[in-house]
Amino acid sequence: MSKFLIDKYASLEAYTPGEQPRDMKYVKLNTNESPYPASKGVVESVSGEEVARLNLYPDPECKALKEKLAEYYGVGYENVFVSNGSDEILSFAFMAFCSEQTGAVFPNISYGFYKVYGDLYNVDYTQAKLKSDFTIDVNDYINVGRTVVIANPNAPTGLSISPEDIGRICESNPDNVVLIDEAYVDFGGKSCVGLIDKYDNLLVVRTYSKSRSMAGARLGFAFASKGIIDDLNRIKYSTNPYNINRLTLIAGAAAIDDCEYYKECCKKIVGTREYAKARLASLGFEYLDSDANFIFAKNSRIDGGRLYRELKKNGVLVRHFSDPLISDYVRITVGTREQMDTLFEKTEKILSEV
Ligand code: PMP
Repeated sequence: MSKFLIDKYASLEAYTPGEQPRDMKYVKLNTNESPYPASKGVVESVSGEEVARLNLYPDPECKALKEKLAEYYGVGYENVFVSNGSDEILSFAFMAFCSEQTGAVFPNISYGFYKVYGDLYNVDYTQAKLKSDFTIDVNDYINVGRTVVIANPNAPTGLSISPEDIGRICESNPDNVVLIDEAYVDFGGKSCVGLIDKYDNLLVVRTYSKSRSMAGARLGFAFASKGIIDDLNRIKYSTNPYNINRLTLIAGAAAIDDCEYYKECCKKIVGTREYAKARLASLGFEYLDSDANFIFAKNSRIDGGRLYRELKKNGVLVRHFSDPLISDYVRITVGTREQMDTLFEKTEKILSEV
């Protein structure tokens, strides 16, 4: 830390992203990326002419992409927002809708960035305890009079709540935004996008990073009432108006045209997830019944940290969290069938040696 950093950031605990090794020697099951490449249409869209146009700024309104998203998801153009990864929307939303006065509430076990943004923006936040089976207690979010932030499915558990419960949460907090982070919804969760017309306080956040194989492009999007979208734009135009680069804009639109390919990829991932659950059970693991593209699992014969380290030595990366509430577990991204078989082969070997 330099002597120049201002006081309020001195104690900030930054988000720790999952490891991104530069070499390709690992079977990478640690950051919930898709194991499948971007579609042909996406690859073609960013070669040639658009690359040559990089001398020009991108469209700050992101009109073509927002039009595509509005049409595909059946919402109005004025109900769409796009961003540099969904992390940026989360950041903008915390800036816009949370403060010391307007508090926030999110689960005690959830996406780590919520707490980081809470600290960064000086938010009076509380963390509602998950139940002992790691499910969300919806009652913790009813009538709270705070901004509500819930990942649905939740991470790293993979467990979901229903759109009906989300409706109840929105209804009981009419003066607060309810942010539902649907990063993983395409792998089996139920989206609440259809509720944005009914609840003007509902903000639904999505990403291209998981089900659309575009984590490297950094593209997130969100749906909400016009008022909420206007607020997010106010923050965007006050921080980074050209937040999405030209190539990502065009790739994002091309991905919508290739939705059949991405649906197929999701189907394969869901099939592999169910196969992986059965294999984990046969190796003596307990796991949560994930709706996402990852599985949160533990084995009483080895603690999560050790399993993570042993797997890494064997060329397989999974994610481990040091929080004592979940340190028994590892979070395993669902890769291809072949990648999962490598994971199981290495795990079997590790377990035979403990
Ligand atoms: N929300 C959740 C629940 C996540 O797990 C992630 C991925 N780390 C994000 C949002 C952010 O994804 P991205 O910025 O790549 O869109």
